[in-house]
Amino acid sequence: MGGGATGVGVAIDAASRGYDVLLLEQSDFGKGTSSRSTKLVHGGVRYLEQGNLSLVMEALRERGLLLRNAPHLVRNLGFVVPRYDWWEAPFYGIGLKVYDLLAGKYGFGASQILSLEETLEYIPTVELEGLRGGVLYYDGQFDDARLLIDMVATAFEQGATLLNYAGVEALTKDDHGHVNGVVAVDAETGEEFRAAAKVVVNATGAFSDNLRRQADAEAVAMIAPSQGIHLVFDGSFLPGDTAIMVPHTSDGRVMFAIPWHGHTLVGTTDTPVAQATLEPVAMDQEVDFLLSTASRYLARKPTRADVLSVWAGIRPLVRAGDGANTAALSRDHVVHIDKSGLVTVCGGKWTTYRKMAEDCVDQAAMLAHLEERACVTEHLPIHRSEDPGLEMARTVEDVLARRTRALFLNARAAIEAAPAVADNMARELGFGEDWKARQLADFQAIAANYILH
Ligand SMILES: Cc1cc2nc3c(=O)[nH]c(=O)nc-3n(C[C@H](O)[C@H](O)[C@H](O)COP(=O)(O)OP(=O)(O)OC[C@H]3O[C@@H](n4cnc5c(N)ncnc54)[C@H](O)[C@@H]3O)c2cc1C
Repeated sequence: MGGGATGVGVAIDAASRGYDVLLLEQSDFGKGTSSRSTKLVHGGVRYLEQGNLSLVMEALRERGLLLRNAPHLVRNLGFVVPRYDWWEAPFYGIGLKVYDLLAGKYGFGASQILSLEETLEYIPTVELEGLRGGVLYYDGQFDDARLLIDMVATAFEQGATLLNYAGVEALTKDDHGHVNGVVAVDAETGEEFRAAAKVVVNATGAFSDNLRRQADAEAVAMIAPSQGIHLVFDGSFLPGDTAIMVPHTSDGRVMFAIPWHGHTLVGTTDTPVAQATLEPVAMDQEVDFLLSTASRYLARKPTRADVLSVWAGIRPLVRAGDGANTAALSRDHVVHIDKSGLVTVCGGKWTTYRKMAEDCVDQAAMLAHLEERACVTEHLPIHRSEDPGLEMARTVEDVLARRTRALFLNARAAIEAAPAVADNMARELGFGEDWKARQLADFQAIAANYILH
């Protein structure tokens, strides 16, 4: 259950071991958090500072595997940490050397301390006042929703069945109270259907507790949802091919400004929220915080009027204590088995989806007494699908938000393109005028959240 990075990762892993797999996603693949990330395949420089070396090493290894297995969508990107204080050269210089070392044979390139002139060569638009130089290091960048759609196609090729717009409404149980299947509903027809399974995996990210409570009303919450937003500007704010990394914002977090599809992507925030929603909305204070932080590092100060798109995502962080400070929560993943036998895999990050899936399928197979079969995904390529049918776009929003990234790059332009997309889709899928009108109204309502008023 769940068609984000984690769920589709589990489907690929289990199917490529030779198990029978059905994946059900309530909305579109990637509608949840997996299309709303910062789009970095990274070890997490921040976790290095928190001293979590094993987490960083695991993620750096996964970064290397992902570059090898999906080279068409993952690339090596330079990041400059601008230096305005004397101590920043030794501090970040040494820290990033440790980052290089932890990557070992999966390294992306050696970090180096930059002079003022060199820093300006990489980032011509960096704030000059007080600038002493920078530190350059390398990490991975990708297109999250595109990779996910290619992963869906890969899962199909491995023999899995994946359905979008098929939400799980209830879990079925045997006489001993063990989960043995699901009741799901086709969102397009309203038709209910049942599927029986030896083991049911809950990979619904920030929504995980909902299904856990379906299985056991008393289940203690595992997830501390935390919202992060991004602002998108035109490419002139960060021309060239190097990102900026700010290791310490005023609220003690990291912030990135990254070139992405010809635009400049700035993020992110970390705001605890009470509940996960499918279409979260950026809060004013989050927007103001990113604008003011970006203004300290960019020579030309971005304003609200420059924002082409704003979007929010919810981190499925694993709860510790009261969940009040989510920035300090671990990004480790967890495989949890409830009394009912429901297997929940959550936490982690995009970068580590493959390892999360491996750990989850190991546990699930053991629990269900499936024949033991080794994980093969370390060497399994994720390649571009040749079959457009496997992209499974069903709505105008699917096309404009996740098959292309128009909505995430420029919301007003996406709204302008919507009627033409609706026409084409209606022709391809055999729908009429009613469908088009409904689709356009739905899309405009969603896209309004991506525009700053
Ligand atoms: C702002 C932000 C920036 C981030 N940046 C990065 C980054 O740069 N690099 C990185 O590695 N990680 C990053 N992450 C983390 C990463 O995006 C997430 O860890 C990852 O996407 C989680 O994937 P998931 O599949 O667990 O959850 P999701 O992608 O949310 O998928 C869960 C799915 O379950 C579905 N679902 C829910 N209930 C049901 C049901 N009843 N039936 C069927 N389906 C259901 C939902 O519709 C959803 O699609 C970032 C996260 C955020 C919020």
